[in-house]
Amino acid sequence: MSFNYSMFNDDKPIYIAGPCSIESKEHIFEMARLVKEAGANFLRGGAFKPRTSIESFQGVGERALEWLVEAGRANALPVVSEIVDVRKLNLYKDVDIIQVGARNMQNFELLKELGKLDKWILLKRGFGATANELLKASEYITKMGNDKVILCERGIRTFENSTRFTLDLNSLALIKKESDLKIIVDPSHAAGISNIVKDLALAGIGAGADGWIIECHKNPNMALSDKEQAIKVGELKEIIDKSNRIKDIIEG
Ligand code: PEP
Ligand code: MN
Repeated sequence: MSFNYSMFNDDKPIYIAGPCSIESKEHIFEMARLVKEAGANFLRGGAFKPRTSIESFQGVGERALEWLVEAGRANALPVVSEIVDVRKLNLYKDVDIIQVGARNMQNFELLKELGKLDKWILLKRGFGATANELLKASEYITKMGNDKVILCERGIRTFENSTRFTLDLNSLALIKKESDLKIIVDPSHAAGISNIVKDLALAGIGAGADGWIIECHKNPNMALSDKEQAIKVGELKEIIDKSNRIKDIIEG
């Protein structure tokens, strides 16, 4: 059974937090508890990881998705997880928000299948795609009948190489004006380094984002993927408090 969240019908911010990868059952249960305690309202975790190198940890797979759902339900947190293969869609029936990663933004056959569902889809911008291409990609889902789409600005590749990617807040602000879809920021993948994640999250909210998705860990040094950008889960509370305050200012 999926959560029946009316939260997208109101103006409740979308604060998604959790580890890059689900590492074990104990790990995701503990992370869920800590994410809930901090005040985030969605739990993220990857089961199938699209890694640049085949030598890197590829995720635990199917079992991890089951643990994620259980951990979410145990803590009253709807869950978000990335799909990388349309043939695995049946595994996602209890996942509340299906994430399409940057590398699959233009996987149109996948998008069309997701367009047949009555489920929220988090569509991340490809790091080599324009804002217009992101909006065009979203239509592969909406034109199939599913208008439950949340866009995500997660950084694009520019000549700047001191951070992993460059968070494109220009495009976010424009999309906010031109589209009715919700849009959040992913400061974690944009930054690639943990000590500016908070700043980028708050800047995103300041630019009008409906929320953010942040990678966190109990012990970032031990994370099996993306450890450089994982913040300590204890840092979430301040980001949530400040995000709420910025939202009050710009919406007030
Ligand atoms: C992720 O969210 O773990 C991820 C792989 O993100 P992206 O697709 O933006 O690189
Ligand atoms: Mn990651």
